[in-house]
Amino acid sequence: MLIIPEALIAGLVSEVDALAAVSDCFASMARGGARNFPVVREALGQGRQYGFKSGIDVSGGMLGLKSGGYFPANMERGLTNHQSTVFLFDPDSGVPVAMVGGNLLTALRTAAASALSIDLLARRDAKVLGIVGAGHQAAFQLRAAARVRPWEKVIGWNLHPEMLPKLAAVAAGLGLPFEAVGLERMVDADAIITITSSPAASLMAAHVSAGTHLACMGTDTKGKQEVEAALLAKARVFTDEVAQSVMIGEAQHAVAAGLIEAGAITPLGDVVAGMQSGRQSDGEITLFDGTGVGLQDLAVAGMAVKRARERGLGFTVEV
Ligand code: NAD
Repeated sequence: MLIIPEALIAGLVSEVDALAAVSDCFASMARGGARNFPVVREALGQGRQYGFKSGIDVSGGMLGLKSGGYFPANMERGLTNHQSTVFLFDPDSGVPVAMVGGNLLTALRTAAASALSIDLLARRDAKVLGIVGAGHQAAFQLRAAARVRPWEKVIGWNLHPEMLPKLAAVAAGLGLPFEAVGLERMVDADAIITITSSPAASLMAAHVSAGTHLACMGTDTKGKQEVEAALLAKARVFTDEVAQSVMIGEAQHAVAAGLIEAGAITPLGDVVAGMQSGRQSDGEITLFDGTGVGLQDLAVAGMAVKRARERGLGFTVEV
């Protein structure tokens, strides 16, 4: 079994790699060659969440899981609040193949899914990127989005405004002007990424203009919500996986309220694979409900393993 510590990941998997891996993984899901298993996610108290995301990609020869969770007190310990580890197994024999540090991989694969949705669904002439949220993931989201459109400006809102200067610094590093705004100014954005751990909607339908693409990335558990459910009723809704979208994603609220039906939600992989159309007009609102699937984790971890083997990196142990 190959062990790839967290510290090696940055040198093995880039933003570009993650975008390609997630795109291939979504297409594989659409073609029926890969499937996710039901998510296990449990509350441990004091805001801690722990769970497993797993799946099999027959075409990619991958079986495995990501064990991970959210530990809000970690900031005070100098640790990342998301703690993840990916385990890969041989799909034929079940023999463990690799254990891979999953913290950076989670941020990269989540940002890649969001950027893929922007690439496929935002208007070609999109110029202003809005970001709702300024925590750990937001920086990765901004950097990945910058790879798929030539933004002219970034506008950001966060419930805790003291966190915004860090996001502004990321924008500056990309050569993009950044403006901290009120939520009502999100009407200026051509694409909006939401990446908060909010339990109730912040972004309302009135804050979003016609023709906007939204990548809603923060809601990955029952009870979280970033955008008004009415916004999903106004939008064409896409997701990584419909079952997760309805169960733990942003769509959980709109479906429960009877505003949309699960059957109306399109897997993004269908668009990648050319089985469904993406944006159909300049005026429509498109919304990607990115819940984060296990196969995304396996895809980027598999890439880390391939690169580590090529370069003789990591540690091999007998299990
Ligand atoms: P973080 O703790 O670093 O940041 C949390 C963010 O949420 C901050 O911007 C904070 O100001 C904001 N926030 C907190 N409470 C809020 C409230 N009541 N209303 C509005 N905003 C509020 O977290 P992070 O690592 O940046 O993760 C953000 C979210 O993304 C989490 O919910 C996490 O579970 C989720 N996530 C999703 C995926 C996926 O695949 N979809 C992957 C990783 C993380």
